Amino acid sequence: MKVGIAKEIGPGERRVAVTPDSVRQIKAAGYDVLVEAGAGAGAYIPDAKFQEAGAGLVTSTADFWSRSEIVLKIQPPIQNRSLNLHEADLLGEGSTLICMLRPLSHIDTVRMLANRRVLSFSMDMMPRTTRAQTMDALSSMSTIAGYKAVLIAGDTLPRLFPMLVTAAGTIAPSRVLVVGAGVAGLQAIATARRLGAVVEAYDVRPAVKEEVESLGATFVGPKLDPGEAQDEQGYAKPLSAEAQRKGVELLGERIPHSDVIITTARIPGMPAPRLISADQIAAMKPGSVVVDLAADMGGNCELTEPGETVVRHDVTIHGPVRLASTVPVHATQMYSKNITTFLLHLTKDGKLSPDWSDDIASATCVTRDGQIVHPATRARAQGVAPAASGSQARSQG
Ligand code: NAD
Repeated sequence: MKVGIAKEIGPGERRVAVTPDSVRQIKAAGYDVLVEAGAGAGAYIPDAKFQEAGAGLVTSTADFWSRSEIVLKIQPPIQNRSLNLHEADLLGEGSTLICMLRPLSHIDTVRMLANRRVLSFSMDMMPRTTRAQTMDALSSMSTIAGYKAVLIAGDTLPRLFPMLVTAAGTIAPSRVLVVGAGVAGLQAIATARRLGAVVEAYDVRPAVKEEVESLGATFVGPKLDPGEAQDEQGYAKPLSAEAQRKGVELLGERIPHSDVIITTARIPGMPAPRLISADQIAAMKPGSVVVDLAADMGGNCELTEPGETVVRHDVTIHGPVRLASTVPVHATQMYSKNITTFLLHLTKDGKLSPDWSDDIASATCVTRDGQIVHPATRARAQGVAPAASGSQARSQG
């Protein structure tokens, strides 16, 4: 079977799904590998490196898509403007697609895939279990986003992060507040601490308190029962009005004391919770910085503009989307490990042969045999579930 590594054509996307090292692994598992010319350019991987690893180079995009029986990608299929064709239509009938499909936000694309009888898997639907950890691309990309958010904040802030005792006087450390202590938030805490800031972290899930404290930060979240704030998969769930009021009050007390706020709060499949109001931004010190990592889902801050940096009330508010793509070398390395491990997990005797009784295969499969098989996506396609706001249901991708 031929595995194809596609060139990403989305705006600002610099990653490629697979590295030459992973090409070797895929070949060793019994596949042939094709790479679309220029696929690795954004991540500084020349075509020659893929060829050295044993991949066949395909210069025509249409040829690449029609010859690949399994396409590995990062972003969901989109319209190819130069060919005037959608990538979902370029895929061969009955072929396989593995990417960060974010199906809840790309229902039309999912329908196209089902109509073409494409077997599709969404990396962002990977179960968050120990067994699936090496395939968890969301965690990989969130790690990068959390790190990069702190660098963006440090670069914009008109102050230093660490405390410095110098002949010219003592510089007080900056105060960083991280809102949402999931994978991205914990990495932001660790990075801000390494830079010497005093860090506080807020989350609704009581389970994160210990993790926050182990990184040397102070937990300032509300004292909720685990069942009130967290579902059985470990994700945050919408709060009761009373719990929400308690949380907003506590967070509100910390905002005016912070030089930097990094927000990462998300609820899967829902718009990002609105946690910082315009009035609270106005109450921050002039020169303060907000980096809103939930910008792609509408933002945690009322004044965030997705994909933009704006200054409001003398506070700089960054709303970056696709931050992982701004670190293309390591983001590619991590994603490549995740997607290759997943592909090999689905492989038996050199062929794609998913075991549908396995939760990793079944939870990630979106379309199969002409049907939308992912339950939440099917419900949304039938208009049963509310639509996600923003362009993506979950992503640091
Ligand atoms: P996420 O991106 O869904 O959300 C980020 C954070 O925002 C979470 O910590 C969440 O609690 C928080 N949040 C949501 N609503 C909030 C609100 N109103 N106020 C404040 N904070 C709010 O989270 P994630 O990083 O994808 O992680 C989700 C869960 O999955 C966590 O429990 C994490 O530990 C777990 N996880 C497990 C594994 C594994 O076992 N292999 C891997 C990765 C993540």
